[in-house]
Amino acid sequence: MSDLNCKLLIIGAGPGGYICAIRAGQLGIDTIVVDEGKPGGTCLNVGCIPSKAMIHAADEFYKMAHAGSGPLGISTGSPTIDLKQTVAWKDGIVERLNTGVAGLMKKAKARFVSGRARFLDGKTVEVTDNDGTKTIRAEYIVVASGSAPVELPFLPFGGSILSSTDALNLTEVPDSLAVVGGGYIGLELGTVFAKLGAKVTVVEAEDRILPLYDKALTAPVAKRLKDLGVTVMTGTKAQGYADGTLSTDKGDIAAEKVLVTVGRRPRTVGIGIEELALTQDGPFVKIDKFCQTSMRGIYAIGDVTGEPMLAHRAMAQGEMVAERIAGHSVEWDKRAIPAVCFTDPEVVTCGALPGELEGTKSADFPFMANGRAMTTEREDGFIRVVWREADHAVVGIQAVGAGISEMSAAFSLAIEMGACLEDIASTIHAHPTQSEGLQEACLRALGHALHI
Ligand code: FAD
Ligand code: NAD
Repeated sequence: MSDLNCKLLIIGAGPGGYICAIRAGQLGIDTIVVDEGKPGGTCLNVGCIPSKAMIHAADEFYKMAHAGSGPLGISTGSPTIDLKQTVAWKDGIVERLNTGVAGLMKKAKARFVSGRARFLDGKTVEVTDNDGTKTIRAEYIVVASGSAPVELPFLPFGGSILSSTDALNLTEVPDSLAVVGGGYIGLELGTVFAKLGAKVTVVEAEDRILPLYDKALTAPVAKRLKDLGVTVMTGTKAQGYADGTLSTDKGDIAAEKVLVTVGRRPRTVGIGIEELALTQDGPFVKIDKFCQTSMRGIYAIGDVTGEPMLAHRAMAQGEMVAERIAGHSVEWDKRAIPAVCFTDPEVVTCGALPGELEGTKSADFPFMANGRAMTTEREDGFIRVVWREADHAVVGIQAVGAGISEMSAAFSLAIEMGACLEDIASTIHAHPTQSEGLQEACLRALGHALHI
């Protein structure tokens, strides 16, 4: 057994943990990061990056397969896809990023220790790997252990029952795929396989897909799923799977594979969190505005602390905690956390939804009236702005549209900078771009939209 000492020990090298380590290193804090997997966590290895790679591949395939039936005068043959090669390409991107993250941590002089961590007490962690066990003592410890997919007891992962990780590594497109859970992951990956030619059925327990969003935002996604041939069964509960059939309370579905995406649970078990008796918020570790847990010197960041379980939230928390440990006067003071669902079309939400805050109103601008949208054959969707009646402060922006994810930074910047309707309406937006829709939504809110 060899002992290590440091000022800051981080459990987990996902987006929360590795950003915390890099920032801590930049601030001169002696830092160790422990992970039992590869640097980058869920996001880089089996989440954000691989799913977006597969979404891109499916988009390209679908475009080629359907170009001939479009209005552009393009004719193509019938494309084929070697999914094994697509997955190898995706894995190559992941590997490059693994190496990149490891390099960035090294450059910041944060030490990476491979192995499984477990608290012995509030200042000591035991790390076990194939070579044995070592203990690491630290003044501060950050729990950044992330999350894992929720497993349904009647649909245990294995064989034909896939988790998101399994689905990202399929080397053949199944003839039919049932997706249980019509949230972020189910719809992103369900769309991938529908575009690659699988017969996809989505089974969602609530009365609409993406139930966290309002109906107007999800309607263009539901329409596109229908156009892609996806069957969506809402208000439906899966019950079990046998002999190529998924049974539900609304009837049976023939499915070669079943993808279960019904949410993610925090990774708190086996780390010693129960023994330390850290206060929990439901299944999550409870934190305050400094990401401090109920035990002094122990912080928690990212998915282990609850919703929204998003990589960029984990990163922002990691950065803040490193600065706090360095003695900076910082706290969680973000006005809004943008969320993007990479469906087709994409959905972006940032800040308050209509009706969420008293004294607010909303206005939208449809892409049907946007020249750029017409030139890309994607007129579905809109940009919506929510503002405070008293001072016209923009408190929420949402949008649904093809490729709209790239506008999410404009939305969060506007809200974070405290922009009001007049600020956005009087800012020159380049023509022809989708972004003009944001300016027009603000103009519409002020009663003088120019293109509608
Ligand atoms: P994680 O990324 O889960 O990292 C935790 C790390 O801790 C892991 O590497 C794990 O090995 C390690 N660990 C856990 N316990 C121990 C232990 N005891 N000892 C040692 N190491 C341990 N979010 C977005 O913002 N955008 C997206 O597009 C997006 N797409 C996604 C797609 C999919 C398919 C999935 C599954 C998730 C997606 N997410 C997305 C969510 C995103 O991946 C998470 O919010 C993010 O990874 C959380 O970061 P984290 O640092 O909290 O935890
Ligand atoms: P989710 O919470 O987005 O969706 C789960 C869905 O499953 C919900 O709509 C829920 O009503 C439904 N459901 C639950 N139990 C069910 C049952 N028994 N039968 C049928 N439907 C059922 O969860 P997810 O898609 O697993 O994603 C987990 C988390 O990962 C998300 O909360 C999100 O924060 C993160 N994520 C983010 C992105 C992104 O930012 N683009 C992408 C993927 C995942």
